[in-house]
Amino acid sequence: MANKAIKYRLYPTTEQAVMFAKTFGCCRKVYNLMLADKIESYKTTGKFVTVTPAKYKKDYPYLKEVDSLALANKQMNLQAAFRNCFSKKRKKKNGFPKYKSAKHSRKSYTTNNQKGTVAIFDNNIKLPKIGKVKAVIHRMPEENWLIKSATISQESDGKYYASVLFEFDNPVNTYVADRTNAIGLDYASDGLYVDNNGNVGTNHKYYRESYNKLAKAQRKLSRMQGSKKHETKSNNYIKQLRKVNKIHRHISNQRLDNLHKISTKIANLYDVVCVESLNMKSMSNKDFGNGKATLDNGYGMFLSMLEYKLSERNKYLVKVDKWFPSSQICHCCGEVHPEMKNLTIRTIKCDCGLTISRDQNAAINIMREGLRILNESFAVA
Ligand SMILES: [Zn+2]
Repeated sequence: MANKAIKYRLYPTTEQAVMFAKTFGCCRKVYNLMLADKIESYKTTGKFVTVTPAKYKKDYPYLKEVDSLALANKQMNLQAAFRNCFSKKRKKKNGFPKYKSAKHSRKSYTTNNQKGTVAIFDNNIKLPKIGKVKAVIHRMPEENWLIKSATISQESDGKYYASVLFEFDNPVNTYVADRTNAIGLDYASDGLYVDNNGNVGTNHKYYRESYNKLAKAQRKLSRMQGSKKHETKSNNYIKQLRKVNKIHRHISNQRLDNLHKISTKIANLYDVVCVESLNMKSMSNKDFGNGKATLDNGYGMFLSMLEYKLSERNKYLVKVDKWFPSSQICHCCGEVHPEMKNLTIRTIKCDCGLTISRDQNAAINIMREGLRILNESFAVA
């Protein structure tokens, strides 16, 4: 069995939005009531009593109006929070569960699919107690995917989403990788990577393109009442904060989208992808030029996308040790060029007659070393 979650944008009617708000509120209420009862019971009996949402429906009849599975899931959440706090197995325990405040807690709830109570159609999603909510179905689930649950949320920018969790049988992949179909990638702070053919991964500098827009919006925000700690937040401040969050989200969505496109393309085209294992922390230092560019292009995320996409296809991601001197070796004759340690030298010139960009030369060496490692592992097995 495998799981997959897809997040859809929702466009609720005013009525539906009111119902969402009610459900978020009821979930918070029930969570806090259950937590209070647990604490109270501990004070008197020394034990944390088991509590269920049903108990409160008499005192708070409005709880009956919302999706009962959403409330039941809050009970599960609270139980999990207690487990994470008191578990003997966990090395890193969480703190004692906290009350959820109306202002700061995440607006979300999870409901489960019970024989079609949650369903996806061409342009809407059906939810219990809510009905059909207009949605952008950018991706239809496969026919054999079953809906397990849906988490409805309202983000800080005010938009609504449904993250739908699917379960399905994973067909056994019998593909056998062609170990001669390889590519080598050398990390590049400008452009994500350079491959062994000299192609650059991407030229998009999303963050920088939108950076001015973001900086402008943030400057405007900082001048509004509410930007300082002691000030009460003005309506204009909250409005502007939403704008800032929107730009942030836009940038990160674009970036993620771009990384997905590039990694999918590579995973489809090649069977062996050789990369350098990099220490991401040291990469953002000044030796690599612009720290912003380094952090911006999300190479670490790119590598993890490649890893799972290749593995899904029965293909290989081979990580070459970061100490392997990929940029110092002439890929033609094998001579080592210590002068290439100087990162400002962008071209390698060898006595054998080779003149090639440092990145492409490194990518070729990474590919060869990666193939050597891969083939060795096969020879042993
Ligand atoms: Zn040479």
